[in-house]
Amino acid sequence: MAEANNTPYPYEAPVSQGLFDRAAQVTPGGVNSPVRAFRAVGGTPRFMVSGTGPYLTDADGREYVDLVCSWGPMILGHSHPEVIAAVQEAVARGTSFGTPGEGEVALAEAIVERVAPVEQVRLVSSGTEATMSAIRLARGFTGRAKVVKFAGCYHGHVDALLAAAGSGLATFALPDTPGVTGAQAVDTIVLPYNDLEAVREAFAAHPGEIACVITEASPGNMGVVPPLDGFNAGLKALCQENGALYISDEVMTGFRTSKAGWFGVDGVVPDLMTFGKVMGGGFPAAAFGGRADVMAHLAPAGPVYQAGTLSGNPVATAAGLAQLRLLDDAAYAKVDAVSEQLRTLVTEAFTKEGVAHRVQNASNMFSVFFTDNEVRDYEGAKAQESFRFTAFFHSMLAQGVYLPPSAFESWFVSTAHDERAVERVAAALPAAARAAAEATA
Ligand code: PLP
Repeated sequence: MAEANNTPYPYEAPVSQGLFDRAAQVTPGGVNSPVRAFRAVGGTPRFMVSGTGPYLTDADGREYVDLVCSWGPMILGHSHPEVIAAVQEAVARGTSFGTPGEGEVALAEAIVERVAPVEQVRLVSSGTEATMSAIRLARGFTGRAKVVKFAGCYHGHVDALLAAAGSGLATFALPDTPGVTGAQAVDTIVLPYNDLEAVREAFAAHPGEIACVITEASPGNMGVVPPLDGFNAGLKALCQENGALYISDEVMTGFRTSKAGWFGVDGVVPDLMTFGKVMGGGFPAAAFGGRADVMAHLAPAGPVYQAGTLSGNPVATAAGLAQLRLLDDAAYAKVDAVSEQLRTLVTEAFTKEGVAHRVQNASNMFSVFFTDNEVRDYEGAKAQESFRFTAFFHSMLAQGVYLPPSAFESWFVSTAHDERAVERVAAALPAAARAAAEATA
């Protein structure tokens, strides 16, 4: 094990670096999703070759305790034998038919059974597709154009949702990336998270124009920033009063924060919900669903078009179904307990080193902010001393713990994170907390 210190890159990863160099020749930035490139923390992204339980092994042959879990999906750990068996059984029957199949019915039934507000559900292949389709449906159902979203909430790379706040609270948004046009952002209103008054003002400024409010059920894409008491209920009430739909994005929280996701925690009933990650068992499967009268507007039952060549893919649905079936109350109790153990260890390590920090959680999702203040919105998240995370991240990596390579992401654990894995994290924390304490901007 490499000795931890405060240098940004405590050791080399020559095989990963070689793969990264090769990748950069044929893929922009060498990765297929930006956060994987380590740009926020620097250094060589680790190319992983296998995963077992709570561990990942990289191309240089080093093993890590995985606290990313593929950004959420791997809630049973890697290569769970029953999920792998279900996949092998499905794949042996063929990989895609382009016809309806029983697996997708069973997965839809499993979702409807677990999440009470979902009366009907449509399967898609990514969380982005789920939120994009839910917004189209909300617009088609209400006959209205405008969408309210919150700064710091991520809903995939949907054009209309890659928008940043304009000059005034209730004014239209601006494109947040080249390639999104003003026209695509003009119907988006971006508001500060956890600010019901701002939502009230937006409805007042745009009467009869807002189709929906979309929010992460409990945000994990600016670090973990849970809704304040009454925020989601307040959103629902404002939507109802104003004839708009309330869309709860549970792509990250769904089937993770409880058996019924964040709905299982706060009980606020959305009109539409979106899912991904856990429900795909590590395969590209996602979904959106909700009120039957709204879903009835979707093609071919209704006029709002939506489709997908690989939607309801038989291998993906088999993996997702196997994973959901294994996620009983005991499984959630296990994930919650491991999360609590790690949160306690992290808090102790930073406290001992005198590092200003807040460990925030939404059930078993959690992250660390390098600040003394409770973080309630994106502005608060950005105000942290994120340079400390860089030092902390590299020390943990050097000691065999794989964290999300950004201070603005949730950490994820699984049922497979056993005592041995927790002990390895515990052993790495003191030196990493010291590195965070000694870091300079
Ligand atoms: N919504 C939320 C809350 C997410 O966290 C993500 C991805 O991280 C998405 C939507 C987009 O999902 P995908 O990456 O599968 O397109």
